[in-house]
Amino acid sequence: MNVQDASLVQPAADNGTDRLLMDRGSLIKRTEAVATAAAAEAEDVDLRARFPKATFDAAREQKLLGMLIPVAFGGFGASVDEVSEVCYTLGRACASSAMIFAMHQTKVACLVRHGIGSAYHEQFMRRVAAEQLLLASSTTEGQNGGNIRSSAAAVAHRDAEISLVRNATVISYGAEADGIVTIARRADDAAASDQVLLAVGKDHYTLERTQGWETLGMRGTCSAGFELKIKGPAAMIFPESYDKIHAQTMTPVAHLCWSSVWAGIAAAAVERAQRFIRKAARGAGGQMPPGAAHYTAAKMALSKMRAMIASHLDLYSAHEYDERALASLDFQSAINLLKVQASELAVETTMHAMRACGLSGYRNDGEFTVGRHLRDALSSPLMINNDRILANIATASLMSGVPAALRD
Ligand SMILES: Cc1cc2nc3c(=O)[nH]c(=O)nc-3n(C[C@H](O)[C@H](O)[C@H](O)COP(=O)(O)OP(=O)(O)OC[C@H]3O[C@@H](n4cnc5c(N)ncnc54)[C@H](O)[C@@H]3O)c2cc1C
Repeated sequence: MNVQDASLVQPAADNGTDRLLMDRGSLIKRTEAVATAAAAEAEDVDLRARFPKATFDAAREQKLLGMLIPVAFGGFGASVDEVSEVCYTLGRACASSAMIFAMHQTKVACLVRHGIGSAYHEQFMRRVAAEQLLLASSTTEGQNGGNIRSSAAAVAHRDAEISLVRNATVISYGAEADGIVTIARRADDAAASDQVLLAVGKDHYTLERTQGWETLGMRGTCSAGFELKIKGPAAMIFPESYDKIHAQTMTPVAHLCWSSVWAGIAAAAVERAQRFIRKAARGAGGQMPPGAAHYTAAKMALSKMRAMIASHLDLYSAHEYDERALASLDFQSAINLLKVQASELAVETTMHAMRACGLSGYRNDGEFTVGRHLRDALSSPLMINNDRILANIATASLMSGVPAALRD
């Protein structure tokens, strides 16, 4: 598919960016093709903790890896809203595939929002679209956990060349990626919070595995630990400092896409619970099984989750190009709390689905098993720990007033 494809509707000028509205039908078809591949290998991906190769072959074939990239750079110019829809659909099929897709798109969003105007990053974006490169993320470092706004490793500068050695605790699909987007301290004498972001192609880094990935869930993300060594042109560093990129793009896009993945996992569990309750009721002459109330509770939690994600997607798209609004305490608190709430609701929904199915949901075999969904959903409160987010937000929450009306 190329940009001349008849299924794409030509362009809507949108705040000066080159946007091409993808026909909804075309996006749905492309997403379905990838989701079908994801569903087919989901169990094996989980069992063997292996990378979902067939899914990403399909994503490349459908050109979805470059969907966010503006048309002028060879992509579809899709919105974060559209990417989130894909995350949700993939989440229903295979949580690991969906999370890989979400993490990749978050890195692409940084390139799109903060790379335009930099020849190196524009060229990198063109390559992502043309070659359907898969980008991994390295933010977690050493024992620092989810404290992303603090880096230990510093960029070493030598004329127009730079180098960086990073103890990357976790890099999902690091071994399978074609490029890495990573944070680092600006220079040896910079403070831990004075960070830059780098987009690095495979020809400029090496990875040496330091830790495996034998986990409860999200096994197909293959999030092993590595020593990451980077050497290449200084142009790999984004012109803007990381604090801005973090607030404007990295956090909002990550939280919107991750939440959509988790909603997808929860929806898949609800679907199984619905089939179970229907079958049980049919088998009992219409009599509802005792777990039926848990199915209703699962549906209720899922609706809450979807509504919350949708309203935050609207909030983000309303302010996407407004730096001040994105940096405001209100927006930052809202987008961080979305992550906390969506992850808690994902676990709650999936747990209700399991209780609705009873033993049939608890067993690892059979058509009503929700074990994989629950294991995958349990990663969500930890992925940038909710406790850390709540503690960080406490001061900001004290500063904003209690709303005077129901609607702003
Ligand atoms: C599926 C998955 C994929 C991932 N992929 C990547 C990736 O590709 N690249 C990458 O860089 N990282 C990745 N991560 C790591 C992730 O981004 C976080 O850095 C990581 O989950 C945090 O790990 P932690 O729980 O050890 O650390 P911490 O955040 O330090 O938490 C450790 C403990 O300390 C507590 N804690 C921490 N801070 C506070 C506080 N302020 N108040 C109260 N309690 C606190 C927490 O409750 C928790 O119990 C991934 C994680 C998961 C689950």
